[in-house]
Amino acid sequence: MAEQKMLKFVNVDRDMPEKRVPNLRTSDFDEIYQQFAAEKAAEQSSRCSQCGVPFCQDHCPLHNNIPDWLKLTAEGRLQEAYEVSQATNQFPEICGRICPQDRLCEGNCVIEQSGHGTVTIGAVEKYITDTAWEQGWVQPIKPFAERTESVGIIGAGPAGLAAADVLRRAGVQVTIYDRYDRAGGLLTYGIPGFKLEKEVVERRNGQLAEGGVTFKLDCNVGEDISFAELRKTHDAVLIGTGVYKSRDLGGPGAGLNGIVKAIDYLTASNRQNFGDTVPEIDSGELWAEGKNVVVIGGGDTAMDCVRTAIRQGATSVKCLYRRDRQNMPGSLRETANAEEEGVEFVWLSAPKGFAGDDKVTGVYVQQMRLGAPDVTGRQAPEEIPGAEYLEKADLVIKALGFEPEELPTLWDTPELEVTRWGTVKADFVSKRTALEGVYAAGDIVRGASLVVWAIADGRDAAGSILADLNAKSAIAAE
Ligand SMILES: Cc1cc2nc3c(=O)[nH]c(=O)nc-3n(C[C@H](O)[C@H](O)[C@H](O)COP(=O)(O)OP(=O)(O)OC[C@H]3O[C@@H](n4cnc5c(N)ncnc54)[C@H](O)[C@@H]3O)c2cc1C
Ligand code: SF4
Repeated sequence: MAEQKMLKFVNVDRDMPEKRVPNLRTSDFDEIYQQFAAEKAAEQSSRCSQCGVPFCQDHCPLHNNIPDWLKLTAEGRLQEAYEVSQATNQFPEICGRICPQDRLCEGNCVIEQSGHGTVTIGAVEKYITDTAWEQGWVQPIKPFAERTESVGIIGAGPAGLAAADVLRRAGVQVTIYDRYDRAGGLLTYGIPGFKLEKEVVERRNGQLAEGGVTFKLDCNVGEDISFAELRKTHDAVLIGTGVYKSRDLGGPGAGLNGIVKAIDYLTASNRQNFGDTVPEIDSGELWAEGKNVVVIGGGDTAMDCVRTAIRQGATSVKCLYRRDRQNMPGSLRETANAEEEGVEFVWLSAPKGFAGDDKVTGVYVQQMRLGAPDVTGRQAPEEIPGAEYLEKADLVIKALGFEPEELPTLWDTPELEVTRWGTVKADFVSKRTALEGVYAAGDIVRGASLVVWAIADGRDAAGSILADLNAKSAIAAE
């Protein structure tokens, strides 16, 4: 277990040009944002009609005061805009980059709904906070007074980090335990660097460490330290472990070499971008260059895989999804980006098996059609009898979603209640679990969700922890 491990960041573009992966397309998501300059932010902000019915705010999980910071930005009062923005969001520059705004704030902008194109809220949010960092407006974490109570947080993803920020500002002693060697959770090892630059995450990790949060990295709770031990050590424990069990595929040939999990593929690519030696990339196992790549799935993870494969120089990249474009769970914007970069989407198709002796050489594709709506109201995909073909593939990436690990078993804590999906049972508002002094937040409660929801949950959990600690110290003082 490494205590307070130094957070290392290597910028591959700058420090290791020989390892750089060429950025192939100019219309790339982050490049659009990079070009987003002051006048653009002011111009976009001034498009906000200050409608008085801020659906954008209602549909932001953090209920950000969007109209207020847009108005301040339009007036050139950027520092005030930043103050308003950071009051409700621990990591606005991260949300501005990776929230699926088309489904949240921007999708509900009144101007968008009147057919005039949304105010680009996410880009303005990113611009305001990036400017705040550049200008030194982002203040270090300095509690007004130190408290004696300590909180242990399991998981350094956005839920855990957001909670740590709130608790540390209130003077609580905070230790974050994470089994990875770097903090950030999926911000660091899941989401690719072309969507979220790793410096941006490292800057926040550094701010927390400098503000007095202790990071115990390379520490797998359940192996290196027990959950019971953590409960004894701390006055409260927050579970923010995310969901990491990849949904799998069966069928003939499912065990062939060259069929890999999305999380392994993306983690390897992120590690390489940090400058780490990644044997699976060196051996070619998790590297797409010169290969026909087939990605299976239609969510955001699948989009990240196809776009990473394009950047690694794949010969062809196809994405198989069993429903159609209208019914895919991933962001439409990301799909459009992927298509523009050369990804081919094969709608209404599902894998039936895999060809190859030792290594995969192809995917047997079953063509589908949409049938009657199921209980959720979505049209269920059904096979078209006899409509099957072989798709050539040298690398198959399974991006079918994630489920929770069995925490009660792994942590030898059968009393930790979970739902029938394996997520930890916690009160929806307070994030308290049935165990005294134990709280849970983020994906481990919701199932695979979004960064902005993890931040909202982390804030809520921290609020409940503070309320409970205050109540306990008031009773002790009586
Ligand atoms: C490939 C991919 C792309 C995504 N893209 C987007 C996107 O563009 N926008 C968006 O909003 N959301 C996106 N998401 C979803 C988003 O990343 C998650 O919803 C969010 O990170 C959940 O936060 P969390 O803090 O609950 O968990 P995580 O970010 O998963 O962090 C959990 C942490 O807990 C640690 N941990 C787990 N078990 C243990 C243990 N036993 N001991 C110690 N540590 C442990 C893990 O190492 C990890 O660091 C994406 C997800 C994936 C997989
Ligand atoms: S946090 Fe996300 S949803 Fe909320 S305003 Fe920012 S980009 Fe929109």
